[in-house]
Amino acid sequence: MPPRRSKSAPNPADAKTAALAEVRAVYAELANRPVQRDCTLLTECCQFKRTGLTPYLTRGEALVAARGVRAAGRKQLPERTDGACPLLHPHTGRCMIYTERPFGCRTHFCPAAGGPYARSEVIDLIRRLEKVDAALGGSGPRMLPGAVADALAEMR
Ligand code: SF4
Repeated sequence: MPPRRSKSAPNPADAKTAALAEVRAVYAELANRPVQRDCTLLTECCQFKRTGLTPYLTRGEALVAARGVRAAGRKQLPERTDGACPLLHPHTGRCMIYTERPFGCRTHFCPAAGGPYARSEVIDLIRRLEKVDAALGGSGPRMLPGAVADALAEMR
């Protein structure tokens, strides 16, 4: 007889779906915060080597970003040799997953876009992402390239 899941145990697929919905809810709430920012797609913050800054992603963010990569028709991250984000399209120069981009890409704006959010302005949202990370068995934020590559490998 096949093993049965008890009624009280959450279905792992449902738990992941709920976790990803929570990440997207965090992004939506951030967009509705009354903090004046204006990303004009300069993509300066996507130049990791030049800026010396790379976004760190919680596990839920990485899974959402990986879904964005798949939706863009790719199964793995493109190779880059210039130190820019692998999700910066090599021909268009635009983010391949803009609507699914991680929290750090939304909050660590370049000076032209109004500068980074103060931690106090988004700490509640950070806590929610950390909670999702723990629920998904994550071990805390990881650098974008490795976090998204592993999330993509998991989807194969
Ligand atoms: S995920 Fe998109 S917005 Fe974020 S650094 Fe990469 S290319 Fe830029």
